[in-house]
Amino acid sequence: MQFIDLKSQYKRIKDDVDRRVLAVLEHGAYVMGPEISELEQRLADYVGTAHCLSCASGTDALLIPLMAWKIGAGDAVFTTSFTFVATAEVISLTGATPVFCDIDAETFNISPAKLEEAIERVKAEGNLNPKAVMPVDLFGQGAEYDKIEEICKRHGLLLLEDAAQGLGGSVGGKMNGAFGDASGTSFYPAKPLGAYGDAGAAFTNDAELYERMKSIRVHGMGTERYDNVRLGMNGRMDSIQAAVLLAKMEIFDDEMAARDRVAGKYGEVLSDSSVKTPKVLDGYKSAWAQYCVLAETSEHRAKLQAALKAENIPSVIYYPIPLHLQTAYKDLGYVSGNLPVTEDTSKRIFALPFHPYLSDEEIGKVAEVIRGV
Ligand SMILES: *Cc1c(COP(=O)(O)O)cnc(C)c1O
Repeated sequence: MQFIDLKSQYKRIKDDVDRRVLAVLEHGAYVMGPEISELEQRLADYVGTAHCLSCASGTDALLIPLMAWKIGAGDAVFTTSFTFVATAEVISLTGATPVFCDIDAETFNISPAKLEEAIERVKAEGNLNPKAVMPVDLFGQGAEYDKIEEICKRHGLLLLEDAAQGLGGSVGGKMNGAFGDASGTSFYPAKPLGAYGDAGAAFTNDAELYERMKSIRVHGMGTERYDNVRLGMNGRMDSIQAAVLLAKMEIFDDEMAARDRVAGKYGEVLSDSSVKTPKVLDGYKSAWAQYCVLAETSEHRAKLQAALKAENIPSVIYYPIPLHLQTAYKDLGYVSGNLPVTEDTSKRIFALPFHPYLSDEEIGKVAEVIRGV
C-alpha cells in the first residue's frame, strides 16, 4: 500500500500534463512564461482573493509577506509549535522571534485562548513588539479564524495564514487561503495540490501589499528590471510547475470530493476502535492533507505502527518533535512541559495512508490491522 499515490494521478492526467509541459519547452519562456499569470488568475478565483502571487515554494510564499510588512528584529510573531518547521523558520529568517502557543487538543490547530494568553504575556514582559499571528491550517483544516481575527483586530496584529496544507478546504464557505491580511500555500508534490517540484503561492486582497510582494519576489525590483528599490530574493515559480498545476486544477475539485469520501470511510471503519479519528469542526471542510489519528499512549502508537508495517502499510508521525523543543530553537529557552497539549499530541499522533485513489479494500485492511492490536 502506498502512503500517497501520485502515479495513479499522473496516469489520469498524463495527456494534459504532457501537452502543457511540452508547450513550455517549445515556447521557451521557462521563467515567468504565460502559464504563470494564467495560474495566478485561476488560483485567485479559486481561493476568492483579489491577488495571487506564485512563488518558488511555500516557504517563500510565507517569507515574502513578512518581509513586505518589514517584520524584523525585536518583533514577536505568534504561531504554533505543532507544525512543519518552515512556519517558524520564516519568522526567524526575518530576524523576528516566533512565540509558540499551545494547540487545541481536538483540531491540533493553535488555541485562540492560548494565543490571547501569549499576547498578554509578551506585552507585559515588554521585551518584544507584538506584530503578527501566523496560524496553520494543520492537516488541511482551517484554524479558528473567527476568534483569531477578532484577537488580531483587538491587539492591532497582522494575520498571516499558513495555508500550506489547507488549500481546497474552507471555513463557513470561505476558502482556506483567503483568511487574514495575507496567506501562503505550498505546492510541494505531497500537498493536496502538488506540482512536480517545489512551488508555492501567496494570496491577499491588499493591492499595495501585493505590489510590494511582487517586487520582493524578484530581488526588490522597482519599475525597471535593474532598478532595485528594496531587498528581495529570487522567489519565482518555474513556468513548467505552473503548467503542471494548471493540469492538476482541472481535477482538483473531483480529488477533494474523493478525499472527503476516503476520510468518511476511515471514520466509519475506525469508529469505536482504539484510535481517535480526526475531528472536523462544524462548518469546516478539511483539505485532508493528512489523515492523522491519536493512539492512547506512545507505546500504543509504536505497537500500531509496527503492526501496520508488518502488513506493508506505511504510516508517518507528523510531528514527532514540536518546534519549541527542536535543537534549532534551543536558544529561545523553551523546555519540556511548556506546551502540554502539543507535547502530548506529538507522542500519540500518526498519519495513515491517504490519497484520493485509496480503495475501500485498502481502508478496510488498515482498520483490520488497527483493530487487531
Ligand atoms: C509544506 C509546508 C510549508 C512549506 O512549504 P514548502 O513548499 O515545502 O516550502 C510551510 N508550512 C507548512 C505547515 C507546511 O506543511
